[in-house]
Amino acid sequence: MSEWIHIEKDQKHIAREKLRAREVKKSQWWKNKISQGICYYCQAKCLPGELTMDHVVPLSRGGRSIKANIVPCCKACNNKKKYLTPAEIVLNRLKQLDASEHFGK
Ligand SMILES: [Zn+2]
Repeated sequence: MSEWIHIEKDQKHIAREKLRAREVKKSQWWKNKISQGICYYCQAKCLPGELTMDHVVPLSRGGRSIKANIVPCCKACNNKKKYLTPAEIVLNRLKQLDASEHFGK
C-alpha cells in the first residue's frame, strides 16, 4: 500500500516538473543558452534548433526543472543518454581524449 502511494507521488512530481520545464523553455535564460549553441555533454557547436532541453538528473530519479539541472543537449547525446548516465558520457569523452592523445604520439 505504501509503495503505491510512493509511485503516485512520483507521477505527480514528474507531471509538475514537466510543466515547469515547459515554462523554462520559454524563458530568456533558456533562449540565451541555446543561442550559444553548445551541447553540455560533448561541447559540440550546434544550431539552436538542434539542441534539446535535458535534465542532468532525470525527473524519474527525483530531478527537478531548475536551472542547475537543465542543460542544452545535442541530438546525438540525447540518443546516447537513453543507454548511458551523464557520468558515463563524461567518462567516455575522457577516454576518447586520452586515446587521441596517445594516437598522436
Ligand atoms: Zn552532444
